[in-house]
Amino acid sequence: MSVSTNNWTDEDFAALNARFEPRPPQAPLEWVFDAFEMETAVMGSGFGASGVVLMHFLERVQPGATVFYLDTDVLFPETYNLRDRLTARFDLNIVRVHSGLSLDDQAEEHGEKLWEDNPDKCCFLRKVKPLRQYLADKSAWLTAIRRDQSPTRADAEYVEWSDANEVVKVNPLADWTEDDIWNHIDRHNLPYNPLHNEGYPSIGCMPCTDRVEEEEADDPRAGRWSDTDKKECGLHLEPEPAE
Ligand code: SF4
Repeated sequence: MSVSTNNWTDEDFAALNARFEPRPPQAPLEWVFDAFEMETAVMGSGFGASGVVLMHFLERVQPGATVFYLDTDVLFPETYNLRDRLTARFDLNIVRVHSGLSLDDQAEEHGEKLWEDNPDKCCFLRKVKPLRQYLADKSAWLTAIRRDQSPTRADAEYVEWSDANEVVKVNPLADWTEDDIWNHIDRHNLPYNPLHNEGYPSIGCMPCTDRVEEEEADDPRAGRWSDTDKKECGLHLEPEPAE
């Protein structure tokens, strides 16, 4: 079955979200794979702790489902290693999505360190644009974002419409807390990025992710684009930033 959500109103989404509010993450996941063909409902992940938890639920609800990651070419070696461990652990189809823009070509066109000179543009070229292209023929985009991660995510719903990407966006862990995530990882002995034990609450690209001091460690997004006002790469901003 495949439902058409293009004409859904805010009331339609509100009614659906009301169904999921007191229920575990399996409920929105089961809804997604009942509503859409498996090939058109894909999870995106940067292999953070929340993403690992969502992959654990996803495998139980829909073995073989697709999980894509945006390979910016500047992820940490520990992240690529975790990708390989998750590939071995879960019955999921982990897919690499790439901008097609090499670091050399980017340097030639935009300068050696675009992430320093214009991080919004760098994120657009290496993350936001490839995401938009990848989702162009998809119906639903599953994410592991949580309301407690940042003010920009505080209003995340279980199910919402992404104008920027023209897909249904599904956030089954929207109401989970940082403690919920780590308790689940411990209970099920799930793999996670070892950098989390070395002062990195959030792990993105190497040039834009710093180790943080202990007093900042409770902020789930601390250490990303330090010393700038930038808080998000743009994947979860609506409307999506333009080039
Ligand atoms: S996080 Fe940094 S390196 Fe990665 S795409 Fe954005 S600006 Fe570029």
